[in-house]
Amino acid sequence: MNKFSRRSFFKLSGITAAAAATTPLAACASGSDIPHAAGITGKAADLPKAKGPRVVVVGGGWSGLTMAKYLKKEHPDFDVVLIEKRGLFMSCPITNLWLADQVKLEFLDHSFLDAAKNNNYIFFNATVIDVDRKSRKVYTEQGYLKYEYLVLAPGIDYNYSAIGVTDPVDVNTLKTNYPAGFMPGSEHLSIKNKLAEFEGGVFVLTVPQGNYRCLPAPYERTCMVAAEFKKQKIKGKVLLLDGNPDITIKKDGFHHAFDELYKGIVEYQPGAIIKSVDVAGKTIKTEFDSYKFDDGAIYPRVRASRLIETLGLVKPDSPQFEANIDPFKYNVIGDEHVYVTGDARPMGFSKSGNTSNSEAHYVAKVIAAHAQGKEIPWESPHTVCFSAVMIDPLESISVDAHYKYNEKEKHFGFYDVKMVQNWSADRGQANLEWARGMYRDMFS
Ligand SMILES: Cc1cc2nc3c(=O)[nH]c(=O)nc-3n(C[C@H](O)[C@H](O)[C@H](O)COP(=O)(O)OP(=O)(O)OC[C@H]3O[C@@H](n4cnc5c(N)ncnc54)[C@H](O)[C@@H]3O)c2cc1C
Repeated sequence: MNKFSRRSFFKLSGITAAAAATTPLAACASGSDIPHAAGITGKAADLPKAKGPRVVVVGGGWSGLTMAKYLKKEHPDFDVVLIEKRGLFMSCPITNLWLADQVKLEFLDHSFLDAAKNNNYIFFNATVIDVDRKSRKVYTEQGYLKYEYLVLAPGIDYNYSAIGVTDPVDVNTLKTNYPAGFMPGSEHLSIKNKLAEFEGGVFVLTVPQGNYRCLPAPYERTCMVAAEFKKQKIKGKVLLLDGNPDITIKKDGFHHAFDELYKGIVEYQPGAIIKSVDVAGKTIKTEFDSYKFDDGAIYPRVRASRLIETLGLVKPDSPQFEANIDPFKYNVIGDEHVYVTGDARPMGFSKSGNTSNSEAHYVAKVIAAHAQGKEIPWESPHTVCFSAVMIDPLESISVDAHYKYNEKEKHFGFYDVKMVQNWSADRGQANLEWARGMYRDMFS
């Protein structure tokens, strides 16, 4: 029966997904609601029969990979399936170092198959397109899976309209010609190619407003691009347009690096809130100024992955369309079988790999406990982030922090912060060692 689905109704009536998300059944659609469901998506996916309670994890990034491994460790009876649309893992952390030739591409790439084999779960290379929370089915283009628990860890998407670019042609040109390089894969390769071909002029980088992915990464990238210009003797300038009033983290270390190491190469413009981008004219307009550029990587505002919105799970007051979850237990409000973790969460934690990894260790325990009718005390995520500022030798600065909940203001803030803002070769090596340790934790 081809019923008129609830979601189609919202789309046609012009009711926004955020508004739809406030209704309890917004995320529920039956298989027959999907136009082509009768074909492949309406059938069970071709996977081994579940040998225990099935836990489906969506997204094989830093959060999902850790989650899949530790769900199995915390509750060996769980039958864990990791669904990921990419065929190969490419790390975002350390890409800035790779741009400056401090590591090889192999350092960043890892096999999802090895992670699944080493940790006794199923890797399903597919794309999730819908979820029916009533019948506990998750739909992919290759059929559906039934779940006992579902963890959504789909990461982020970009919001170009927040920097005044709304025409689909312009958005597409911007994405293609000046990719942000904050989602894993082709974007980073394109930026690397740009640097190899850059003959001089202005190379623009931007820092968005809001809680964007990896606070220090745009500043680290600025240092690495400037270091390349210095090394290759390119007569170029790195123009960093920051939508924030000042450097958002490790401020003294980055300011010091811009002034000491890259004087005359880095031009830092704080408070540069982008109002529009003239893609053809290669010009960025802020409220008061206009900046011409020759090439670059433009990082727009970040939002949670569109999957969260498609499923009607957006927190009503979230400016970044993040998920409506319990901030301590991570389950979708009113549903203890669906969890959202990683950069799609609404809590003001740093959107970082280490944060996602430590959080997944905790949420795996939450789910394992729930399956046994228990609860566990809240554990703070742990943010550890090294930033390279200098190459040959590689030298880095770092931050290490936990979080504390402020009952009065109802939000989380940094707690027990250790900042090292004087760069050193020891930190540079610790930077690489940190990444190796993280990859081991996800893949071995
Ligand atoms: C340049 C750069 C440098 C960084 N440096 C650091 C650092 O030094 N330290 C640090 O801790 N963090 C760093 N980060 C941040 C870190 O990469 C992210 O915070 C982390 O990847 C978030 O993990 P996640 O699992 O939420 O999202 P992701 O890692 O992006 O994973 C999401 C996954 O979900 C998949 N997916 C999405 N939708 C679907 C779907 N419908 N079906 C199937 N699969 C789907 C995606 O393909 C992706 O693999 C850096 C990021 C960048 C860009």
